Amino acid sequence: MKVAIINCGSSSIKYAVFDMNTREMLGSGLLERIGTQESRVRHRRRNDFGKYDEILMHAPVSNHAEGFEFILSVTAKMRILEDPNELFGIGHRVVHGGEAYNGPVLIDRKVTSKIRELIPLAPLHNPANIEGIEVALKRLPQVPQVAVFDTSFHATIPPHAFHYALPYRLYEEHHVRRYGFHGNSHCYVAKRAAAMLGKSIESLNAITLHLGNGASATAILGGKSVDTSMGMTPLEGLIMGTRSGDVDPAIHFYLLREAGMSIEEVESMLNSQSGLKGICGNNDMREIGGLAEKNDQLAQLAMDMFCYRLKKYIGAYFAVLGRVDAIIFTGGIGENSRVIRSATCRGLSGLGIVMDEDKNNGALGCEAEVQDGQSDVKILVIPTNEELEIADHTVETITALKNGAVQLKP
Ligand code: ADP
Repeated sequence: MKVAIINCGSSSIKYAVFDMNTREMLGSGLLERIGTQESRVRHRRRNDFGKYDEILMHAPVSNHAEGFEFILSVTAKMRILEDPNELFGIGHRVVHGGEAYNGPVLIDRKVTSKIRELIPLAPLHNPANIEGIEVALKRLPQVPQVAVFDTSFHATIPPHAFHYALPYRLYEEHHVRRYGFHGNSHCYVAKRAAAMLGKSIESLNAITLHLGNGASATAILGGKSVDTSMGMTPLEGLIMGTRSGDVDPAIHFYLLREAGMSIEEVESMLNSQSGLKGICGNNDMREIGGLAEKNDQLAQLAMDMFCYRLKKYIGAYFAVLGRVDAIIFTGGIGENSRVIRSATCRGLSGLGIVMDEDKNNGALGCEAEVQDGQSDVKILVIPTNEELEIADHTVETITALKNGAVQLKP
């Protein structure tokens, strides 16, 4: 049973094909620079030894429809998907489901127009997601297609946590509230953590830390999200590669008045010139770590700030949850940076969080427990797999509909 996952950006298409009987990814890739003469696809294919070979191919691709066709030809040539009609389904990653979707949904015309209505909440992402859906529906109308939202996992956050202390009518009239993102990643690693600890997901209390270019922390109570650091947009919360995370909102007005900046300049600065890059000029944690080792003061400051903000969220979510079974590190930084994991957990023994530095040093891009024997709280490193999470939701949604179930699993 094969399932394809599509994640469309404004000039890119990420894709993956899974064999859901074995839960193995057969191949995946990223088509970039759509609309230019330099479009290229970086394709990874599983070989006979269970490892992945990477192939780079170039072709001018002028739009997403051509891009989709190019991807189908690549996956056919690589014998990953010889006939796309054999697909059990296609899962589309959609960034914003607003309050309309608390779970995945089979895509029809009504669903695409609802996702279109949500564009003001995600102007950078939802238009590209819709483009991908429309192209795939047109090309493969007989394959069931499912929208899986980044926001859905956070639909269980209670009102006292999702409201901003702003006039209530802004929520009623303009949908101003916290939504949260990275839901598929937080959900995936929480389920893996429950399996690693031999617990049911319903009994798991955890703090998940997704640390990539974007970063967010989630408080998970009994397997459900009850708070998360990103808000109405992915700008709130932790310090990220180029995003500021939490700042005093009055800074915006100050900059308009005193620095003569326009509102557009402030918005662009907060999204693309701030975070790690704003402090030390670099947004790649690997390079920042290297610079800090060479005594670059601003690189060290950026790392210290990153870990300090994380520590504050861990403390806050500890208070929210009362009991914490595990802290989970994931995303490119969480999976690979022992330095960031160690600095984040340092000084948290009062909360029962004690790291074993040797175990931490040995955990690179693989599932591992890295806590000390005396630690009350498990510290887990779990590589995320958002694509597999989307594939699972796609299969569940289509199967539930085929079985005539009224209620879809959220
Ligand atoms: P995205 O959000 O784009 O999916 P990733 O999850 O791939 O991002 O994470 C990218 C981040 O992970 C970058 O800051 C990168 O430097 C960092 N990273 C990857 N490998 C390492 C490593 N070995 N040590 C420190 N940081 C790393």
